[in-house]
Amino acid sequence: MKLTIGYARVSTTEQFYSQSLDRQIDILKEHGVDKIFRDVESGANSDRAEFQQLIKLIQQGEVRTLKAVAWDRLMRDPYMGFFVKDLLREHDVQLFLLNQGEVDLSTAAGELSADMQIMLGAYERKTIIERINRVHKSRRKDQIAWQVFPFGYRIINNKYELDTTPCVCPIEGRPANYRELSFEDEPDNSSKLLSWSKARISREMVESFLELRKASKVLQRMHARFGSSIIKKRKPVVGLAIFGTISGLKRWLRNPILQGHTCYQKYPRKGKYPDINEWNVIPNTHPGQALITSEEYQEIEEIISSSFGKLGKPERTYYLTGKVVCQKCGGSCDLKRGGQYSYYACGHSRTYCDSRKHVRLERIEEAIIYRISTRANEIYLGNTALTEDSAELAKTAEIKKKIQDIENLSWSKVDRDLSNIKRDLCRELETEMNKPRKVSQEIIRHPQAQNINFWYTLTKTEREIFYGKLVDRILIVDGKVLAIDLSV
Ligand SMILES: [Zn+2]
Repeated sequence: MKLTIGYARVSTTEQFYSQSLDRQIDILKEHGVDKIFRDVESGANSDRAEFQQLIKLIQQGEVRTLKAVAWDRLMRDPYMGFFVKDLLREHDVQLFLLNQGEVDLSTAAGELSADMQIMLGAYERKTIIERINRVHKSRRKDQIAWQVFPFGYRIINNKYELDTTPCVCPIEGRPANYRELSFEDEPDNSSKLLSWSKARISREMVESFLELRKASKVLQRMHARFGSSIIKKRKPVVGLAIFGTISGLKRWLRNPILQGHTCYQKYPRKGKYPDINEWNVIPNTHPGQALITSEEYQEIEEIISSSFGKLGKPERTYYLTGKVVCQKCGGSCDLKRGGQYSYYACGHSRTYCDSRKHVRLERIEEAIIYRISTRANEIYLGNTALTEDSAELAKTAEIKKKIQDIENLSWSKVDRDLSNIKRDLCRELETEMNKPRKVSQEIIRHPQAQNINFWYTLTKTEREIFYGKLVDRILIVDGKVLAIDLSV
């Protein structure tokens, strides 16, 4: 059985700014694919790991249909584009681009249209890059403000300017009907609301930082004064969008625009913030509009650089990160290391969330093991039904049986056809088993799954695979594991 393959790609910069890879994958899944290959890399690079796997699979004649969101996801370089096109035609692979439908490579017209697209895509990209570079160059020459401006500022006539428009009122002293007093429609209302401008709030943050010498304390103070903008249990809270994170506040404080300079080449490239030394700073481009004096900046820089490298820096790579959620604020928790133990704690505990206690990683893993083995036992005893599609399960069982039947036959005279059939069946089984829910069901049904000791023998990599599939969410509060949601 030939496969329908989806291919998704974003460049590292695209991935940095948005979750567009996930979006592509979701769309491809909706369009029904057996397997998805994905890369986070430039389309100009043909050495992309999964892309190469895809090419190999096509060359082995195992692909029936290839689906991608658009041509430029597959390829940017025209020569590689032609290579891919020929490859698809040679192996009779149907190409389906979600932004235009099926591309018919079997007719002359279809092929011409594909060639045009490949060439136009390359041409368009080239001209866009040239245009952007030209614009950036002339902006730098004329010292024009970047399109992106930091909190507290706005851009007037291509220059940065402190934003002094009233925008938000502090919690303390605001009238009871503040929600009705919309100053956007009624300018007079702004005085009733005792509104603060972004510039005033910004200055307050700078002064608070110099006084408290700790970014987390500044955020706490601002959140107490203006309310939290953070999403609580997925519902936005009325308030001001101040900086959500400590690192965000530090980055903002270091922004040269706040000292009256204009800065280029400060924004992320290839998914990384450039080093402070690589910034291209043009001094005093908006005099009179500085928020921070150079003496103040020296002090800020000293505070920030001395606070680096302390214990408790979040580590984001652990496999449970993203699944551990704080029950109080609904925010996700960070893994922290202190001494010989690792802990999960609310990522907002140093700012606006009052859930301060950490939960030891071992406790979480114990709780997971208990929860999984209990659930496996329930399923084994038949006390609870699995959330599953019985037709899907029946299909797996059927394929397994067929494979077994073939294996049971006498192999004295090995029949080529028979081994081909077996190969196809195995492949079919693999596709069937790769459906995510299927895998977790197979794991929880395994006779060993009820055995607590079995789970303790797993290595970190094995736990990563199993828990990754079985555990949806871990809710913690006040140093305790409150609940573990399983996917089965
Ligand atoms: Zn919290």
